[in-house]
Amino acid sequence: MIYQNEIFNPLLKKFSSSISFQFRLICLLLVITFFSCTKNHLPLTLYISNASIIDGTGKPAFKANIGINGDQIVYISEKNIVVNDSVPIINAQGKVLAPGFIDLHAHGSLEETTEFENFLAMGVTSIALGQDGSSPYKRNLGAYLDSISQYGFGPNVLMFTGHGTLRNLASIGTEPNPTEAQLDSLSAILNDHLQYCFGMSTGLEYSPGLNAQENELTLLAKIVGQHNRMIMSHMRNEDDDQIINSINELAQQGEFCKVHIAHLKSVYGKGEQRAIEILDYIKSLRNNGIEITADIYPYTASYTGISILFPEWSKTNQQFNKIKTSRRAELQDFLKNKVESRNGPEATLLGTAPYTGKTLADLQKEWGISYVDILIDSIGPQGASAAYFVMDEDLQETFIKDPLIAFCSDGSPTGFHPRGHGTFARIIQEFVIERKVLSLEEAIRKMTGYSAEILGLEDRGTIKIGNKADIIIFDPESVKENATYENPLQLAEGFDIVIVNGKIARENGKLILPFNGELLKPKSPTPK
Ligand SMILES: [Zn+2]
Repeated sequence: MIYQNEIFNPLLKKFSSSISFQFRLICLLLVITFFSCTKNHLPLTLYISNASIIDGTGKPAFKANIGINGDQIVYISEKNIVVNDSVPIINAQGKVLAPGFIDLHAHGSLEETTEFENFLAMGVTSIALGQDGSSPYKRNLGAYLDSISQYGFGPNVLMFTGHGTLRNLASIGTEPNPTEAQLDSLSAILNDHLQYCFGMSTGLEYSPGLNAQENELTLLAKIVGQHNRMIMSHMRNEDDDQIINSINELAQQGEFCKVHIAHLKSVYGKGEQRAIEILDYIKSLRNNGIEITADIYPYTASYTGISILFPEWSKTNQQFNKIKTSRRAELQDFLKNKVESRNGPEATLLGTAPYTGKTLADLQKEWGISYVDILIDSIGPQGASAAYFVMDEDLQETFIKDPLIAFCSDGSPTGFHPRGHGTFARIIQEFVIERKVLSLEEAIRKMTGYSAEILGLEDRGTIKIGNKADIIIFDPESVKENATYENPLQLAEGFDIVIVNGKIARENGKLILPFNGELLKPKSPTPK
């Protein structure tokens, strides 16, 4: 044995090592070929591994890896793949991956705040603008949108055309009874704008929209329906004793097109039972074939122009200046009753300089003048915006829980209300993690898949092969709303990576340029 070994071992070793060398070489070539084939078959521009995926449909989280090519999701699988060295990889171990949130009702300037970082920071990758009846004052909206969208936005932007703006463009303004010619002009502009917009918004509690009568709204709803678009409405009156009337008015338009209640609330309404009554009413309309949906923001204070406190006959400066002296006593009474019924002067927190951060009660004390006279002599109907603490927590929470109700911020990059910087973080932090009102999967569905369904956005809102890669990666426990009523412009935290159209738009608190958000176009070609 010793002899044999001495003689044969070196030869044997040489032979076996050459076999193993050849064998290994072949294996290596096979592996290289295999992986280069994989790469060839699946070109990627970004790969996210080990994520816990909540896909926006409401189904439970699952582990998977996601491949993105350009602006599209092209790979979803439990199987990890080896990707080309040049492809950036995000290891999302321990994190949730979800579709970027869709804000159904947002505000902001398309020219001045194009980064919309407040939205990106709270995980929002698409915002719907042109709300409450007010949109850019442009007759040729298509050309305007083309020109301002060429540099991109932080998130994607979807437009609505505002009914109040349309009235102004058609030279109707505050006229309650437009002529046939004016209605023709209104219809023609709406027909044109709907080519670029997902629908029409109304603001029937504001001037000039509040002047519109049923015939006008029906005419416009028919046009919206012909284009297969929708009406999103800030309804005529959100007070508890008027809310059903307001919903009914919108439901009438719902005979002709999809309709949507913006920021559902009941001013002065109280308790879970009242919320259930209102929800049941909306559901009964749906059971009768009206396509009606709604959204809500998760706060008990609203925020809008101070004209909301003024009577219909003094909402514009023109009206106000006319009646300020002649109907002063009547105006004083109206304002006093209105403010008292809205929980008093302590519950109106002004958000416009030089009154920022002060309530009407604070001003009254500081100035030694009644808040009613301050409203008339110093502020006026167009002189400020304010937060109004007019909603009941139990009632609003019942809306928040309901599967039919989606979420919106109704916020803007500059508005003095925490909703503009906090809404979507607050849903996760307060309503999912702290109070367990909603499961994470259901909360995400109401901010993504369901919102996309409402808008008719077919390729966003869920994590699905072929969908646009609007994606957020975060640890739900770390999500934090930093905005408060006193300090509302604080960005949210915890959405580590925000991807818009396949590219990282914000990472660990930093914006990544250039902006990749697009102006989204409504899907179907407009029928003539
Ligand atoms: Zn509104």
